[in-house]
Amino acid sequence: MTFSLDVGGKMMSGRASRAGVPELREDTCLDCGGCLGICPHEALDLYEGRIRVLDSCTECDLCVRLCPVDALVSIASPAGRA
Ligand code: SF4
Ligand code: SF4
Repeated sequence: MTFSLDVGGKMMSGRASRAGVPELREDTCLDCGGCLGICPHEALDLYEGRIRVLDSCTECDLCVRLCPVDALVSIASPAGRA
């Protein structure tokens, strides 16, 4: 994920570190399905009625920011994945 910052009037851009693979808080999730449609990599699906994060996740953090009840939480990338 790239970013731009205004540093003393000079625009700087760079690449942010990955947010981490989201983890579902099952006790918080409302099963609204809102996150399923937002993933640009189809890395979210329903498995046995619950949201599941697939290996195609790029850790973009979109679903984490979208969830209205913070049921998806970014966790540290597993070793060798970041
Ligand atoms: S948007 Fe949040 S509450 Fe809705 S299904 Fe996804 S994780 Fe659950
Ligand atoms: S972090 Fe991004 S790529 Fe991963 S499941 Fe969420 S929306 Fe999809």
